[in-house]
Amino acid sequence: MTASKGPQRTCIACRQARNQDQLVRYVVAPDGALLVDYRHRLPGRGAYTCIELQCLQAAVTKKQFSRSFRGNCSDPSIEMLQDGLQQALLQRIANLIGMARKSGQVVSGSNAVMTALRQRSKQALVLVSEDISAGIAIKIRELADRQNVSCSQLFSKGMLGQVLGKGERSVLAIQAGPLAEALLIELQRYTQMVREN
Ligand SMILES: [Zn+2]
Repeated sequence: MTASKGPQRTCIACRQARNQDQLVRYVVAPDGALLVDYRHRLPGRGAYTCIELQCLQAAVTKKQFSRSFRGNCSDPSIEMLQDGLQQALLQRIANLIGMARKSGQVVSGSNAVMTALRQRSKQALVLVSEDISAGIAIKIRELADRQNVSCSQLFSKGMLGQVLGKGERSVLAIQAGPLAEALLIELQRYTQMVREN
């Protein structure tokens, strides 16, 4: 684990202190609902867990949420918690792609992406839509593998287009850089969470 600066917080499940940015934050809405505050931006008192399923499960089983918030929220089910976290991760991934687009670091459409990969321009990751045609998906995946570019499959063509402010997009590639690095971390977290589910 990298030692980044910043305040430390304790996971309510395993009691391990970690840098805040490695933990998921939760707050309680005025109606008593537990909210996943993935970006640590919502006001009010917060509780924290590691992102691992093990800690989510332990926090639920040991009723640590209601304890942390002194009875002001009811304890969520593990399904609710995972669902909230997955939605937060998808939102974060979409936001990062939008930011990459605004700074001109995105190529989209299968022809443009394949050209970019063949030219060995510095692409850090390829995102293939879930409803892309199987033949094109295989071609792009092979090309990405050959160039050592990470390839993930997420979102529909419509959603990828929407994130880019365009019509349907079956695939996009993101240039190497800090945004791509942040995206790779979130994609890995998401994939891990879905796999554990
Ligand atoms: Zn933990």
